[in-house]
Amino acid sequence: MNIQALLRENIKNLLPYKSARSEFTGHADVFIDANENPYNLGYNRYPDPLQKELKEHIASWRGVSSNNIFVGNGSDEGIDLLMRAFCEPGKDAILILDPSYGMYTVSANINDVAIIKHQLDEEYDLDFSEIKAKVSDNVKIVFICNPNNPTGNCYSSEAILAFAKSVNAIVVVDEAYIDFADEASCIKYTDQCPNLLVMQTLSKAMGSAGLRLGMCFANTEVIAILNKIKPPYNISQPVQELAIKVFSNIAEYSQQVAKLKTERSRMAMELTVYKQISKIFPSQANFILIEVDDADKLYAFLQSEGIIVRNRKGQIHCKEGIRITIGTPDENDLLLYKLNEYYHAEGIVFG
Ligand SMILES: *Cc1c(COP(=O)(O)O)cnc(C)c1O
Repeated sequence: MNIQALLRENIKNLLPYKSARSEFTGHADVFIDANENPYNLGYNRYPDPLQKELKEHIASWRGVSSNNIFVGNGSDEGIDLLMRAFCEPGKDAILILDPSYGMYTVSANINDVAIIKHQLDEEYDLDFSEIKAKVSDNVKIVFICNPNNPTGNCYSSEAILAFAKSVNAIVVVDEAYIDFADEASCIKYTDQCPNLLVMQTLSKAMGSAGLRLGMCFANTEVIAILNKIKPPYNISQPVQELAIKVFSNIAEYSQQVAKLKTERSRMAMELTVYKQISKIFPSQANFILIEVDDADKLYAFLQSEGIIVRNRKGQIHCKEGIRITIGTPDENDLLLYKLNEYYHAEGIVFG
């Protein structure tokens, strides 16, 4: 596997920006190298461009080395940078599952990168040999969301590894929801598979979507490429500090995840009561995808009651899709109460 051969020519030859703070390491008393205001009211200095302290926390949390971690302004930044590093606009392509997370498509469109879709089967499962057949020479990145959003199902991490080993493209496993899943993370495979990159985030299980912090775990060669092309100070000082604090609360987040998984089971069961809900897809994430009789109408009703769900109307195998994030027990109860009211008012018997 030759990562450099997958890289765009202009990125291969790129001379990266050298910030004042990345040229100097060690101790000094006087910093007159970066045109900062010397008077300190909190944030007068540029932050660490490589987020070393934060990465040490992430590294010990996930049992990897800091050198195998890239940190971005949300997963969104990682997705965009990967596309810019490996995909020649107007020429190269990415391969995505359908349905899956919308950001891969948006980012590809922004970067003028073609999109090849692999349609998932009725259970939203897939056959990796079918995907492999679609990885043509111009496909530079394959995005596998695991557990998949918005469907909630998981693919075997061993099968993903075998697939990644068999293709000449970067394989991104987006594990935004992995902490809610029974399936193991693919992080442990990144040292034996240089084209495998695992993406995680503080936005879901770690309760910190407002911080905007996404992580990529990969071989040092791919991490070095991302660091080379990222904006020099992509994670602000307060976000680095707040993210470090998140890691002192891991036990609490684990408890929350356990609670949310219990609620997920309860909701999946409670929803079976309604005849108008024709499908409840089994979920390994913190949401449940259901097919209802009329997604727009249910969405509008819930909105009028101050409850916002995600309208996923029109997607494959779930034309009238609604995606429900698991909330607190009270929030979930309120949704169930309103569903009761709605389907009664519709004049349809539920049984
Ligand atoms: C929510 C989500 C993310 C998180 O994105 P951030 O930019 O890190 O908040 C990433 N991937 C998927 C599939 C998601 O659903």
